[in-house]
Amino acid sequence: MKILVTGGAGFIGSALIRHLIRETEHEVVNIDALTYAANPDALEKAADDHRYAFEHVNIRNGEALRRVLVKHQPDGIIHLAAESHVDRSIDGPDDFIQTNIVGTFNLLDAARAYYESLDSARRARFRFHHVSTDEVYGSLGDEGLFTEETPYAPNSPYSASKASSDHLVRAWQHTYNLPTVLSNCSNNYGPWQFPEKLIPLMILNALRGRPLPVYGDGQNVRDWLYVEDHARALHQVFEQGRIGERYNIGGRNEATNLDLVHTLCATLDELAPNPDLGAREQLITFVEDRKGHDRRYAIDATKMADELGWQPRETLETGLQRTVQWYLDNPGWAESIRDAGYDGQRLGLAGNAHAANTR
Ligand code: NAD
Repeated sequence: MKILVTGGAGFIGSALIRHLIRETEHEVVNIDALTYAANPDALEKAADDHRYAFEHVNIRNGEALRRVLVKHQPDGIIHLAAESHVDRSIDGPDDFIQTNIVGTFNLLDAARAYYESLDSARRARFRFHHVSTDEVYGSLGDEGLFTEETPYAPNSPYSASKASSDHLVRAWQHTYNLPTVLSNCSNNYGPWQFPEKLIPLMILNALRGRPLPVYGDGQNVRDWLYVEDHARALHQVFEQGRIGERYNIGGRNEATNLDLVHTLCATLDELAPNPDLGAREQLITFVEDRKGHDRRYAIDATKMADELGWQPRETLETGLQRTVQWYLDNPGWAESIRDAGYDGQRLGLAGNAHAANTR
């Protein structure tokens, strides 16, 4: 089988491609615009495999998408390409509208034309898997979990753009019979994550003895999933998910941001003690809260377990140990991101629109 993956040079897309090349015999075509968030090195050995191909294409370009589909003749699509950082969506929502909504429309439109050109045997196995987030459901109170029936209530420009794209996918299935599946996942963490996101930002700042900026009172709760568990789940949803269905993916690993940062400090003090710094939790600094900051996300992944037999393999404790160790073992990667211009600057204070994001 040949799978076209969009956003495969990103944090989750690269984990998915590494998984597909390592664990299956599938061929993979990666479409990526190589924005600031892309990490071609994260593909590791997978990029050298004869079953891997790369197309430097922007999903905002519908014509290029049609050309790539005709050229590579994939048996399915897993769509991850997106602008993914909430803080950047507060500073500059336009990129999120253009890529996440218009780009997804372009891909659906091209996929529909391509799907209709296939013979019946190839149509029968074709799937369009759209990868989305639990943030489309909005914010929870102290109790309860997001299920697949939770109504959409997105609060940030990022989550609103992802919710819009989810609705387009649903409509293309309902109206045009495009065989789609959709997954909504909780916060991911692990190797190769761009250091604007909470966990790598904290690890890299803590290693350098820099302040650890915790938004607001630090009591916002996120449900963390190790990225390789997500990659396995995506593969299963793509191959075994029922057409027209959505699947919530999450690790049942809830933590407040403040507790998470304390755990990271303790892990770093153990794995990389620095007597000059002392206990790294002294670096914790409370800073202005994110605008419209959702209070709590938590996923009920029962459907993934019951229908597809999927379970996360990492707990938050084991996943964080692996993650911290990876950042300790790969200091050159963080340096290359600093050299390219991102050094942990605060984002999302609206008005600090970032510079052009492609390279
Ligand atoms: P990322 O920002 O690390 O990577 C995004 C990738 O998409 C990059 O390689 C980038 O170059 C590419 N891309 C961006 N705009 C593009 C465009 N216009 N055309 C082609 N390629 C483009 O993102 P991620 O964290 O790997 O997230 C991947 C997907 O998973 C996104 O759709 C995101 O909404 C979703 N998701 C992420 C999380 C999370 O915690 N990171 C959780 C749930 C769902």
